[in-house]
Amino acid sequence: METTRSEKAPGEKVICLYPGCEQEAVEPPRKDNRAARQGPPPRYCENEEHNAASTFQEIKRLEQEGAAS
Ligand SMILES: [Zn+2]
Repeated sequence: METTRSEKAPGEKVICLYPGCEQEAVEPPRKDNRAARQGPPPRYCENEEHNAASTFQEIKRLEQEGAAS
């Protein structure tokens, strides 16, 4: 038996969480280095419209579409 290779390994590139988006997540630009902290890793791509709020809305929209059909 081979070990599963599809498991995500730490350090692997992160794909944008926005539904349907397959862009690689990138860190948002930092304007103030003093504010740079060890925050959470990036979860969204460069698209400004792909953020937690829009992703939440899109997921809800997709769920409603699925429920309606
Ligand atoms: Zn995206």
